[in-house]
Amino acid sequence: SPGTSLDQAAVDALGARFGGDLIGRDHPAYDTARQVWNGDIQRHPALIARCRGTADVRAAVRFARDQDLPASVRGGGHAVAGHAVVDDGLVIDLSAMTGTRVDPAARTIRVEGGSLQSDLDREAQAFGLAATGGFVSHTGIAGLTLGGGIGHLMRKLGLAIDSLRECDVVTAEGDLVTANAEQHPDLFWGLRGGGGNFGAVTSFTFDLQPLGPTVLAGLIAWPATQAPTVLAFLRDFIADAPDDLGLMANLRLAPPLPVFPPEVHGTPIVGLVVTWAGDIAAGEEHLRPLRALGTPLVDAIAPKPYVAHQKMLDPAVPHGRHYYWKSHRLGPLSDDVIAIICDHLSRISSPLSSVPIFSFGGAMARVPEDTTAFPHRDAAHDINIVASWLPEQAGEADRHRAWVRGFFDELAPHSRGVYVNFTSDDAAQRVASAYSPAQLKRLGRLKSTYDPTNFFRFNANIRPS
Ligand code: FAD
Repeated sequence: SPGTSLDQAAVDALGARFGGDLIGRDHPAYDTARQVWNGDIQRHPALIARCRGTADVRAAVRFARDQDLPASVRGGGHAVAGHAVVDDGLVIDLSAMTGTRVDPAARTIRVEGGSLQSDLDREAQAFGLAATGGFVSHTGIAGLTLGGGIGHLMRKLGLAIDSLRECDVVTAEGDLVTANAEQHPDLFWGLRGGGGNFGAVTSFTFDLQPLGPTVLAGLIAWPATQAPTVLAFLRDFIADAPDDLGLMANLRLAPPLPVFPPEVHGTPIVGLVVTWAGDIAAGEEHLRPLRALGTPLVDAIAPKPYVAHQKMLDPAVPHGRHYYWKSHRLGPLSDDVIAIICDHLSRISSPLSSVPIFSFGGAMARVPEDTTAFPHRDAAHDINIVASWLPEQAGEADRHRAWVRGFFDELAPHSRGVYVNFTSDDAAQRVASAYSPAQLKRLGRLKSTYDPTNFFRFNANIRPS
């Protein structure tokens, strides 16, 4: 493809001191290296700098500045809008930087900037430890954490950022700074919710807590005819539930999996993904009313390893399929909101689409709002309206996107903003509603301090104020 022609002498000079791989348009790995999770994103960078360590990240940042190239930063590659790849620019790709180190005595873990949720879960659980991480284990720790990080354990252990102790950051100048409560505390505040706006984070250090290894967890699901009852129950049950309980609703057409009776495959269902992260017997007792609700199609709640539970949803959202989503943060699910959700579920346009509804409260809601750049901690739920279709069904894309937008628009009057990590192609318009006014102002000032030229701009972008 056309695009910027690179200064070959400058690329050679970079290559001479680069530890990782430089993947240009004629490199055999180029076409796989430019793919992200969302197969709908097809961009053609001028060069992909697959870094092996911090020295490479610093060299890549300086190269992009010297060559005046637009530069994106790639962690796990999950951003649905494809922020990790940029046409005709440089991808600063941290995906090969997945080293981890657990300190079991101090109960901390340090993970490199390209690590996935599965890396953290596996290494920490080897010592019976955990920190809150995403619901899907192939998500990048970097993007997930920098936006806040919600997951099964957030009501027990807080958000991912609530356990974050320290980051190593390569700034827009190509310098390395360590940000924690004592060093660059302003930057450390902004990294906990402000996304990739302030630098390329080469490592994250988290506090860990004892967990499991067994949790009482799994899916319970009902036919969609029972969705109004199930969603009203969810609202009331989670409102004063113990911190040990995590509940995520998921509405979709029943996939053709052995857990579902064949006659329900392809019919609308409402599921609850249950995580009880405390004493198993106490959990069995506490979950009794939930399991007695209506007539479930499936009840697969059982003691199982936390790491297995963390992977349960992975196959439902594989790499390479096409996706489009829009999201709202919501208060408690009112009867009006439930009616809108049930109505649009009945018109879901693809068997691969799904509507997860996440439930807040507990430990994450007790952290004062100004401690981090994560807003609306008192909100009750997040809803993500996710359309998905196969690459060979590109002709259907408009229909699936229209379903998402119609559903989203009807919920808009009930919206309490958006989780920055659930923004999509609407990130530029919605970034303001992803923060409180005070947080947004503070983030803008921080951006002018750390990145006045907006070098890091392929993200939910905060403009220098
Ligand atoms: P990338 O696309 O690589 O990066 C996302 C953004 O972060 C980009 O702007 C990028 O430039 C920046 N970035 C990446 N790495 C770095 C770095 N090392 N330093 C600085 N900036 C960097 N979110 C949750 O909170 N909880 C969930 O349970 C959850 N589940 C998800 C499941 C799926 C299937 C998907 C697709 C997303 C999910 N998300 C979830 C949202 C997810 O947190 C965001 O998509 C996040 O941006 C992904 O981070 P990444 O590193 O994988 O993505």
